[in-house]
Amino acid sequence: MRSVQGVRRGLVCSASLHRRHLSTTAASRDAPSTHREKAAVVFDIDGVLVRGKKALQGAKEALKLLRDGDLPFTFLTNGGGITESNKAEELTTLLDTEVSPDQVQMSHTPMREVAQRYTDRRVMVVGSKRFLDVAKSCGFSDIITPQDFLQEWPNLYPYRKVETRPKGPLPEAVVILHDPQDWALEAQVLCDILSGSLAAGEEHSPHLYASNPDFLYSAAHHTPRFGQGAFTTALEHLFEKLHGRPLPVTYYGKPNAVVYRYATRILEAEVRRIRSLPAADNVTFDRIYAIGDNPKADVRGANRAGLPWTSVLVRTGVFSGEDNDPDDPAHIVSHDVHAAVKMIVERRETERTGQTG
Ligand SMILES: [Mg+2]
Repeated sequence: MRSVQGVRRGLVCSASLHRRHLSTTAASRDAPSTHREKAAVVFDIDGVLVRGKKALQGAKEALKLLRDGDLPFTFLTNGGGITESNKAEELTTLLDTEVSPDQVQMSHTPMREVAQRYTDRRVMVVGSKRFLDVAKSCGFSDIITPQDFLQEWPNLYPYRKVETRPKGPLPEAVVILHDPQDWALEAQVLCDILSGSLAAGEEHSPHLYASNPDFLYSAAHHTPRFGQGAFTTALEHLFEKLHGRPLPVTYYGKPNAVVYRYATRILEAEVRRIRSLPAADNVTFDRIYAIGDNPKADVRGANRAGLPWTSVLVRTGVFSGEDNDPDDPAHIVSHDVHAAVKMIVERRETERTGQTG
């Protein structure tokens, strides 16, 4: 006969076993699982879906095909100067489909990680349009522009007369967020700051970050216009000629690898949202189709990123060749975005049918 103590011990044991069983069950229920997505699409915007302020032919139908086919998609552009929310509103209007800001990756979007490194530290921000709104939305808090910096250091650029004010701390980083529009002043001030010469003998070497390496971009004029990359190229040449050493620059924007790592995270979040998956679940992709019109940015970036990225080149923007681009050949060339999406949806269906049949 078991003693009361033995019975109690037995109860304790079975209770702790039960607790262990429950916790194991809970753990297995809460353990993140892996969701496998067969195909997803990442769109470049200009020259693929829109040109200027108009949707390109077939763009609206392409997005409808994707929604009907239940394929996840996001947007990845080297454009900037406005926030992701503003861009999402613009796309919603132009493309007749609801676009969330979380689906939009601008050239500056991954630079949130730069902002985190410089929390409460002074950063010089360069750009045009609504670049100060963009800087704040990225998380930069202590911001100064080259034009405002001139008020603290009025002798840096003698051609501009400004009201002076007491000197603040020197910027600890310089971030180009959109196309500069005051090149002479900006080139002079940036060369001075980045050389460390304003620190009067103290160690001071702020780093330069640039959101978009594009040398040219398409606008209303019949030939392309200088982009942010043209300014950075000029700045690098000026700096090296002046100081005899290269200017270190960390570039964001396509075709850089950091952009594609970030784009994968945005796409994973989109899949969790539309499939109602727990935030902890892993998402994998068999194929991520990157549809773009610029071989040097869209195709080169997707090709370098490797699988599951698959480059798709359309002929409605920068590229208009008959065959493929000779320097950066795409995996697939399509006439336009509608043809590209139709092929992707059909290919996904064939793979699904082939595997289940
Ligand atoms: Mg484009």
